[in-house]
Amino acid sequence: MSWHPLQAYGDLAADVREVLISADQIHQRVLELGQAISHDYAGLNPLLVGVLKGVVIFMADLLRAITIPVEVDFLAVSSYTAALREQGVVRLVKDLEVPITGRHVLFVEDVIDTGLTLNYLLRTLRARQPASLEVCVLFDKPDRRLVDTPLKYLGFELPDRYIVGCGLDFRERYRNLPFVGLLKPAAFNSSATDPQR
Ligand code: 5GP
Repeated sequence: MSWHPLQAYGDLAADVREVLISADQIHQRVLELGQAISHDYAGLNPLLVGVLKGVVIFMADLLRAITIPVEVDFLAVSSYTAALREQGVVRLVKDLEVPITGRHVLFVEDVIDTGLTLNYLLRTLRARQPASLEVCVLFDKPDRRLVDTPLKYLGFELPDRYIVGCGLDFRERYRNLPFVGLLKPAAFNSSATDPQR
């Protein structure tokens, strides 16, 4: 699929300082991940699990790149307090709709930074005794990792920078950009002071 040029995204594009990975590069890599998953999970009817909302774009693309029967479900989480968030403890505000005991579960994540959230959610899912539980992440930022978690499938490794696009937001904006990039400093500032955002 081809996308609009950057300028077509008007105000959103004006806030972007640098495109780190193009839409075409992401598309190509997602096809490769889908191919690997299709190969590894043939005959296993895997369940892909994602956390709303950031993962929706990657999940939609990954699902279409998988060529074997597959199911999908979502969790939604919210933070309790800043202190608990620092430990990766989150509150499940929406649980899975299907039981995962005995299922081959692939946890799909848009970005991993410290790894705390992922680690907490994996522990929660592991307690339900799936047949297997692996991780597929599109963007990995390993510099600030606090908990080491094996990533079976990895899209791109990125430096420790705040990225937006491809489902990732800053204050709910920029999720619809088809590439992933960095914001201009002014975009962070104006968002902080603009009550519309
Ligand atoms: P963790 O530090 O626990 O690995 O990441 C927690 C969450 O912070 C991620 O699931 C994601 O929602 C958010 N996050 C981490 N890094 C970035 C980033 O560079 N950009 C955006 N938009 N969100 C991020």
